[in-house]
Amino acid sequence: MTAQHREHVVRAAQRPSRLVILGHPVAHSLSPVFQNAALRAAGIPLVYDREDVAPDALAAMLRQLAAEGAGGNITIPHKESAADLIARCTPTARRVGAVNTFWTEHGELVGHNTDVDGAAASIRALLPAVADAARDTSVVLLGAGGSAAATLIALHTLGYHRITIVARTTARAQALAERLAIPAHIVPPDAIARVTVDAGLVINATPIGLRDDAFPVPVAMLPDDCAVFDLVYRRGLTPWIAACRDAGRRAEDGLRMLVEQGASAFETWFDVPAPRDAMWGALNAAPSTYDRR
Ligand code: NAP
Repeated sequence: MTAQHREHVVRAAQRPSRLVILGHPVAHSLSPVFQNAALRAAGIPLVYDREDVAPDALAAMLRQLAAEGAGGNITIPHKESAADLIARCTPTARRVGAVNTFWTEHGELVGHNTDVDGAAASIRALLPAVADAARDTSVVLLGAGGSAAATLIALHTLGYHRITIVARTTARAQALAERLAIPAHIVPPDAIARVTVDAGLVINATPIGLRDDAFPVPVAMLPDDCAVFDLVYRRGLTPWIAACRDAGRRAEDGLRMLVEQGASAFETWFDVPAPRDAMWGALNAAPSTYDRR
């Protein structure tokens, strides 16, 4: 962990009375699978539940959780609206503009964002010599939404400064880079061949490949030594990541980011190291058989 990265370490002042993930829908979420395994492995007598909360019920649910002294996670579609509803947000959550992790302090919810840690962990896993690599590596980031914001902050924190954002709505990408004060070159999708030609890291932060077999970037367009990070994950690898690996590229899907944002949340709630082996073990044993680390 770099000194810069350590600035993002945050700890809750009190342990949550209960843990819950809020989403709509939320039945598919893998967080209860690995968070309950982590709780068991750490000997913490809590259960991590799911709550399916419609958007118009979110404010009342957050008030109820504050009264209960709860903690937990927030997923699609509530991350951005939770950042508006939770008065006390950490600087990281304010900067991303989204809350994915919360806890209670003095009867009030505190909102935080650990997607930044999750993205940083995946990038470090792909490019371990990150301090050296970051100086010159050209990074191409596809997408300009909430997960692109977290990924941009992770890249910036790790020292990457040659960043190109490919976005179909270039004004959204421009606004994002300006809001985060992170310099980035912004291009539309038809420039992708030009900007990937010398890329050392290509990141997909769009939903391309989530429900279809489309590739965000043709594999043949990626330089031989280019690392590839797909924030999307599905049962098995995403077709793009499978094809990238078949073609000899270092490539990771979004599962590590998911586990690492959860591990960072766990460490924030409980101030103990997250039992990552138990978390991965539970994912590998789940019926959806993720079976990797
Ligand atoms: P978001 O806020 O809705 O942003 C999506 C971005 O992708 C926008 O810039 C959007 O462009 C662009 N986009 C959507 N469809 C596209 C298409 N067909 N072609 C080109 N660009 C397209 O979503 P998000 O929260 O950033 O999430 C993006 C994906 O990341 C999700 O689908 C999820 O699978 C993944 N994710 C993974 C993790 C993890 O832990 N692994 C965490 C968060 C998200 P416009 O602005 O033009 O609409």
